[in-house]
Amino acid sequence: MATGQVSDDELRRARGLCEALRAAATANHDKAALPAGVLDVLNDAVERAGILLSFTPDRYWRAMARAEGADGAMGELVLRVTESMTAGTWPRLKVCVSDACHWAFYDTSRAGTGKWCSMRVCGNRAKQEAWRDRRRTNE
Ligand SMILES: [Zn+2]
Repeated sequence: MATGQVSDDELRRARGLCEALRAAATANHDKAALPAGVLDVLNDAVERAGILLSFTPDRYWRAMARAEGADGAMGELVLRVTESMTAGTWPRLKVCVSDACHWAFYDTSRAGTGKWCSMRVCGNRAKQEAWRDRRRTNE
């Protein structure tokens, strides 16, 4: 397999990991239990990536994925999530509330109350729909 290509199985697992992280972010935001299977997907990604913890003179310690290719990339993604959890920024990773969207986004709002991936797109669309609903009600 040439560099930069992924197999159908790797693509299926990458999509599964994205959905698992989206479900984990939603559950974290909603303070709900993790949906069934999410932990299995996350732990499978960690195992396949061969996560290695080593001590270094410059950074004291570092976690990295031993695997290369898609498994290594998925492992690095999981590591960024664990860093976010450790740093306390994990609650800022949210899923857009728009039913037509559900993109994962990092909430940079000051109060941490962002609901949409983008105010220009999904936020604006929701406000226009709410305005139309109010207008219909008043007619
Ligand atoms: Zn959105």
